[in-house]
Amino acid sequence: MRVPEIPEQSAPALRAGDPPAPAPVPARPLIRRSARVPRWRARLADHDADSLAELLRKAGGTASAARAVAGKVVRHAFGAEPGAAPAWDAAALAALGVGAWAHEALLALDPGLSLEVAERAPSGDDTLRLVLRARDGALIESVLIPGPARTTLCVSSQVGCARACAFCETGRLGLARQLAAGEIVDQVRIALALAEGQARRGAPLRNLVFMGMGEPFDNLGEVLKAIRLLTDPRAFRFAPSHVTVSTVGVADKIEAFFREARAELAVSLNAPDDARRQAIMPVNARFSMAALKEALARSLPPGRRVLFEYVLFDRFNDAPDDADLLAAYVAGLRCRVNVIPCNPGPDPALRPPSAERLDAFVARLSGHGVTTLVRRPRGRDVGGACGQLAGMARVRQPAPA
Ligand code: SF4
Repeated sequence: MRVPEIPEQSAPALRAGDPPAPAPVPARPLIRRSARVPRWRARLADHDADSLAELLRKAGGTASAARAVAGKVVRHAFGAEPGAAPAWDAAALAALGVGAWAHEALLALDPGLSLEVAERAPSGDDTLRLVLRARDGALIESVLIPGPARTTLCVSSQVGCARACAFCETGRLGLARQLAAGEIVDQVRIALALAEGQARRGAPLRNLVFMGMGEPFDNLGEVLKAIRLLTDPRAFRFAPSHVTVSTVGVADKIEAFFREARAELAVSLNAPDDARRQAIMPVNARFSMAALKEALARSLPPGRRVLFEYVLFDRFNDAPDDADLLAAYVAGLRCRVNVIPCNPGPDPALRPPSAERLDAFVARLSGHGVTTLVRRPRGRDVGGACGQLAGMARVRQPAPA
């Protein structure tokens, strides 16, 4: 598909009374050596069925026996009561029909949770922000967001984040380390256990969004492994269409994502041109908006569409002309645009728009035929809304080793 040329735009001139433009955010070095996944890999939830089968094959099983045992194990451990620790000893494995040849390799894996709840912060709008402590003391956050038909869990993919977006509290932490697949899965196990306890009050947990702390594409291998286990019909059984991964636009990972996962993709756009996007999202210096669009147009599988997220900041990106530019940018892509009035974040120059400016922007964008939804952030009062995660953890985060 030919990608329409995007006219180069400069940032609009400030008018009297306008708030100051956000200061350009300095680029940070990305993944540091010390920021890799920690090396305590002997946990059951770090494995999807494929990696478990590979482990069992190395333990002496034939390929077919290893696959069969891996399937039984993920069903046993995560299929019946995914929020509870499974029975995990030789008798339990024998009861599953797992041969003795596989016991040693399997029982070397720890079936317990890798995270514990350090703090629960319920919000006035029923959102529940969870601060979770990993075994090395690192703090991450997840947010449970009840809805009328289903509950959504917003999960983290990294401890901190290297991408340094100007509107985001997590970006202020820098990157401490990657989360292992099991630590991503365990956010879901903890949330399922909590949701189970509130079963009569809320809709079932059916939606997962990777919009918590971290840039998922900077930890794509672990994120994909977690998604494979979470969407495995023998294990957690999340529908792939109910799992959404949000990226700031790491364009060179988009093809791999669509090749490896059937989950949905959200791209955080937040500006209608390169100059303004770069001022608030340093990733744009590496991947321009044109490069991002080209990667999406080339990689989006037939029948799939991308969700663009556009956080609206007062008099920064919310003018009717900006809606025109945004419509021109998304033209030709199968997409939907979520417009999100911003949350108070670390940059005082980035403030929510008035209701009138929000309505005018949405009407103008919709007028171009762009499918547009307004998403109201939830959990604001407990720092659990978009861009606010780590507001609490920041002050308690242990220094990286
Ligand atoms: S918005 Fe996302 S990618 Fe940007 S700094 Fe925050 S967590 Fe990282």
